[in-house]
Parts: sequence; structure tokens; C-alpha cells
Amino acid sequence: MRLSFDNSFARELPADPSVVNQRRQVFGACYSRVVPTPVSAPYLVGVSSPVARALGLSEADVHSKQFLELFSGNLVPDDAAPLAACYGGHQFGNWAGQLGDGRAISLGEVIDVGGRRQELQLKGAGPTPYSRMGDGRAVLRSSIREFLCSEAMHHLGVPTTRALCVLGTGDLVKRDLLYDGNERLEPGAVVCRVAPSFIRFGSFEIFASRDDLGTLRALAEHTLRRHFPHLLDAGKVTPSTYTRWFAEVCASTASMVAHWMRVGFVHGVLNTDNMSVLGLTIDYGPYGWIDDYDPTWTPNTTDAATRRYRFGAQPRIAAWNLARFAESLLPLSRDLSGMEAALEGYAGAFDQSNRDMQRQKLGFLPDSQPLDGALCADTPESLHESLLQLMGRVETDMTLFYRGLAQVPDAATDAGGSAEQSDELLLEPLLGAYYSEPSAGLRDALVSWLHRYQRCLVDHGVNVGRRERMDAVNPKYVLRNYLAQLAIDEAEDGDYTLVQQLLEVLSRPYEEQPGRERFEQKRPEWARSRPGCSMLSCSS
Ligand code: AMP
Ligand code: MG
Repeated sequence: MRLSFDNSFARELPADPSVVNQRRQVFGACYSRVVPTPVSAPYLVGVSSPVARALGLSEADVHSKQFLELFSGNLVPDDAAPLAACYGGHQFGNWAGQLGDGRAISLGEVIDVGGRRQELQLKGAGPTPYSRMGDGRAVLRSSIREFLCSEAMHHLGVPTTRALCVLGTGDLVKRDLLYDGNERLEPGAVVCRVAPSFIRFGSFEIFASRDDLGTLRALAEHTLRRHFPHLLDAGKVTPSTYTRWFAEVCASTASMVAHWMRVGFVHGVLNTDNMSVLGLTIDYGPYGWIDDYDPTWTPNTTDAATRRYRFGAQPRIAAWNLARFAESLLPLSRDLSGMEAALEGYAGAFDQSNRDMQRQKLGFLPDSQPLDGALCADTPESLHESLLQLMGRVETDMTLFYRGLAQVPDAATDAGGSAEQSDELLLEPLLGAYYSEPSAGLRDALVSWLHRYQRCLVDHGVNVGRRERMDAVNPKYVLRNYLAQLAIDEAEDGDYTLVQQLLEVLSRPYEEQPGRERFEQKRPEWARSRPGCSMLSCSS
């Protein structure tokens, strides 16, 4: 197995002079050198073939002893530069000071087969100077969740960090799952995460908070040169580069969040240390997927009181986080009005992406207009607005509903058939999305909405190819919380079949997959209140 490292982060940025692996505050440095703590008996739980291939690893490599040693942290290649990054962050709205990689250790950067730089990071690889109270380890359940979800998100077309593999360590880790005093020993695991960089908003906030402009500038210049070279002015970083950079981060963040809203993903811990400057979904913890459409839902029990990170609040929270990032760049850009304008651009960019996405979910084109002679008073936007209200009236499975909507027939007159369609015919594709039998009142409201919808589609002339377009943005298979939990239950019993099966199903989320009906079912009743399915804590 051949991985060649080129460690630009370690090479170009100031390092902590101390190599003592002891919890402490680290000043004037972007990272500390630290090696993973070996594990007893690593074993393979899951591997992502596309990521392995992108890194130039063969099937034989993936199933070798060396693979287990390397990605569990037991063997550190000579040209790797293992490190833990220093960063801070705002947690639940409050400045939390130094956080840093408390259990993630980066091996270094490799160039993938496409020529792109990829950092390989082992999460759960042991304590670092940033471990604070933690043990530096991760448990199997949260590692499987991160592994499966980052790959699922990628295949859904959502910008995200990737995952090469999840390995069990053969060691046990003590955790209090619900923070209720019931500690238990759980199997430990390590996930190898892969991304061009794991630099976060909090990576900049820490130096700004300490008035350490030298380190702040060094990190910002490195980030720009390595990851945003198109923004340099004749190869140089100038104050205006920072403003343009911030505007670009606002745009990529807006697009990422619009994708979350499209697929029904709730991050769960949108602290500023969990926001990537590359606009990638990062740090999968107590995330969740919307089963029944409910914008107030949060999967995170730690967030239950205020629901700060609920599904519907994500666009606004991302803006709040961007404002904290802007504050930390202000000493470099010194352009308050430019940064404010960029932040305002976020709202516009999100609204635009979200509007386009909502139109596409209904089968309209982002720019389709009513044709001459249009009769319908609705716009795609007003239709979507009323649809969300209908979905909020009773528990309606978001994924199944949109997927079913594509199957609703076109208006009868448009199809050249009989002018009348029975209500049953219209409703039939949607009934499977309901968690309880819809009332007569709801059925009437839905039928009347469907007539408006059909009319509007005709008016916009978008019936041709509508189903295919809708099925390309409305996934059939998402990582439902209960499915992840079933895979975890089996894995904790030593059977990893379901992990691998889910990985495969979720790699083609928009395709019909006959025989895989089990993975498209709405949440079963038993999962409504089971920990891991409807509620998760940060314990991981
Ligand atoms: P998170 O909530 O996963 O974003 O983590 C917040 C901070 O806590 C980060 O600095 C993590 O590295 C750290 N952390 C979380 N779990 C552990 C652990 N088991 N051991 C050490 N540090 C941890
Ligand atoms: Mg984090």
C-alpha cells in the first residue's frame, strides 16, 4: 500500500513547540504534534470503496493487515505528520474558548488520484493536548453514524467531508449514553475522515479572541493559498482578499444549508467549531433525519430545552455562525462595511438556493414562468408554502411525500384523457407518507392543493420530464435514524452486514432499488421514542 504524504498544514503553519501530550492551553500555534495511541485489536467494520479508490487503494490494500494498522493509528507512516489542530468556538451561542482536536488526529495530507489534496484524519485515535475532560476515544455507534452519514450525504449531492472506513479497536470505552448516570462499557472505534481540509470557523476565532494577529494571519494566508487560490490578487493576499473570501464562504455555506433543507438533514450541533470554511458538512454527532416533516425538531437531547439547532432554524444559525467568523477576520480585512455586505449576501444566496430547490422538489424549473393564458393564481412559491402548512398538520413523512408527489398524475385535460380524475387517484401515491390515517378534512385540503398544483404545472408547461426531475432531487433512500440504529445494534453484536448494505443502498439514493423496500419504510412505531432513533446526546 502506497500513500505519499505532502503535509502543507504542518509545514506552513506554526507548531506548538511542546510535544508533551498533556491537556493544556496552546498559544501561538495552529497545531500540536501528537501520535495516535495504539489500540489492541483493530478490525474492519465498514469501508467506502469510492473513497478507497480515490486514494489509490486497491481491494487487496483495503483487506490487508497494514490497512487495519494504518487507519487505527497503530502504524504511523514515515512521511506522515500526525497532529491535532488548535481551534476554539462558540457552543450553543456562547464563547467556549479553546476546543481543538480532542480525539481526532490528522495523519497528514495525500494527493488523491484526481490530483486533489486530501487530509486523512483518525477520529477516536486517543488523547491530545486538546482533550480537556475527554478520553480521546470514540464509540462504535457514533463512529458508524459518522461513517454512514458522510458517505450518504456525498451521494445525495450535499457538500460534506468523506469517510474512508470505520474500524473497531478491540478496546472498550466508558460512556453515559443519556447523561443520566448510567455509564456502560461500549466497543471503541476509529473513523478515518477525508477532506481537503478540516479548517473551521473556530480555527480563526481562537486567534482573534487572543489578539494573536500573527497566527491568525498565517492561518488565513495558508487557507487562501491552499484552498482559495483564485481569490489572490496577482498571487498576493491583500485586505480585500479577506472580504471576497468571506463572501465566498457565505455563498458555499448558503448552498450547503439549502441542501440540508432539501434532503431533511438536521446537523444537531451547529457550533462554530463544527462549521467548515470549505462549506462542507462536518462533525457528524447527534445529527438526525426528518421523518415526519417538523421544522421544530432537533435530534439533540442536549439542545432539547431551547431547540437552538432545530431543522427550521439552521439557515438562521448558519448566518449567526458566519457573523462570528466575520468578526474573527475583521482585524485582517479591516473592512466592516464590506464584511457586512457579504453577510447580507448570505441571506440572499440562501433564499435564492432555497427557492430554486423548492421549485425543483415540486417539478418546476428554477426559471420556469407561467405561459400565456395561464389561469392559476398560484406561483410555485405560494404552492410550496401551502404544502408545508399541510405537511405540518399531521405527521407526514417528508421523504415519502415528495417521492410520492412525483407519481401524482398530470392534470387529466393536459394528458388528453377524461377531464375528471377521482380524488382517490390523486391521493393514492401520497397515502403511504402518513403516519396515521388522514382525516376527511385533510384529504379535502390535500385534493384541493393537488388540483392547484396540477393547474400550475400546466400553466408553467413543465409536465414533460417532471417525474424524472423530481426524482433527481427528492431522494428515495436517506439514512433514517432508525436504520442507522438497526445497523449499530447488529454491529454491536459483531455483524457488520447491515452497515455495508446501508452504505450500498445509500450510494444510489435517487434510484428505485427493487428488493430494497426495507430501506425506504417510514419510521416504525418502536423507533418513535427509542434513544438513537429519535433522540441522541453528544455522548459519543
Ligand atoms: P464536538 O461536540 O464533537 O464538536 O466536540 C467538541 C469538542 O470536544 C472538540 O474539541 C472535541 O475534540 C472534544 N471532544 C469530544 N469528545 C471527546 C472525547 N471523547 N475526548 C476528547 N475530546 C473530545
Ligand atoms: Mg466538533
